[in-house]
Amino acid sequence: MVGKVAVGGDAPISVQSMTNTETTDVEATVAQIKRIQEAGADIVRVSVPTMDAAEAFGAIRKQVDVPLVADIHFDYRIALRVADLGVDCLRINPGNIGREKRILAVVEKARDLGIPIRIGVNAGSLEKDLQKKYGEPTPEALVESALRHVEILDNLDFQDFKVSVKASDVFMAVGAYRLLARQIEQPLHLGITEAGALRSGTVKSSVGLGMLLMDGIGDTIRVSLAADPVEEVKVGWDMLKSLKLRSKGINFIACPSCSRQNFDVISTMNALETRLEDVKVPMDVAVIGCIVNGPGEAREADLGLTGGTPKNLVYIDGEPSQKLEQENLVDELEKLIRKKAEDKIAQNAQLIAKG
Ligand code: SF4
Repeated sequence: MVGKVAVGGDAPISVQSMTNTETTDVEATVAQIKRIQEAGADIVRVSVPTMDAAEAFGAIRKQVDVPLVADIHFDYRIALRVADLGVDCLRINPGNIGREKRILAVVEKARDLGIPIRIGVNAGSLEKDLQKKYGEPTPEALVESALRHVEILDNLDFQDFKVSVKASDVFMAVGAYRLLARQIEQPLHLGITEAGALRSGTVKSSVGLGMLLMDGIGDTIRVSLAADPVEEVKVGWDMLKSLKLRSKGINFIACPSCSRQNFDVISTMNALETRLEDVKVPMDVAVIGCIVNGPGEAREADLGLTGGTPKNLVYIDGEPSQKLEQENLVDELEKLIRKKAEDKIAQNAQLIAKG
């Protein structure tokens, strides 16, 4: 458990992101955590590089309710402090803490307070002896590094941990996770580290994490983008939605448009996607420019729009429902989609009430 969020086993694959504010700027960090949570993050990580940041972490903890992971390197005192201040998971590599007494202090504190640890191995910071042994970062080197940390926790009979073996190279990361998944039972935190900017990083992460998730590997994911962390959460969710591993909000089906389109598909789609970000109930909405593919897609969706002249046709639950003029198309469509979302919430509530 990372706070109230289960990770591993049959639990849904959780979506994480990380703040990029100065942690000592409590106000800015709290505001960003709230935006990340609102976008759908199950867990948020905050880097805690100094004791000042640890104190700030305590103030942040009091102002948000999403589970928080503290990202700590080397300094065991920071780990002890954030544990007392209410952290939900420590990202710290036991092998990097130093003397045995320090490792023991952190592990005992984590055990006492029921705080899990994430071992986070990264190709960019592989131990020197492993770099020498393997010549360069390789999947085997990443896994050997991870297993060293795992062994330390095993020897202390501490099993409440998860592991990541990240690399910016998709093949290296995928190879490492596949190797590691065969060797340990603990949950795996997936990520392609330093994947890149919004577009390139999204593609790299989707390819890499997609391969692993389809193998049944991975319990929690973080998409690393050189972008607003909110985008990381959106991409993470879209990944899980595409693979039908989780559902949340609207799954849009839209044609790319061509000269047969009877309304401007691209601008309509962009406007709807932005306006309807707050809809959380899972539903399929098809936005298709003409009758070539429109009726077929609309029949499979909760709500579908097929372009036509002089009017466009709306389908609800696969049945033709009403026609919409070109004028105010986005406004009218938004209203209908919101209405459909409310109906679905009511239907779900009825089903739950019936048991
Ligand atoms: S559905 Fe119609 S408008 Fe959309 S791409 Fe296909 S032919 Fe073009």
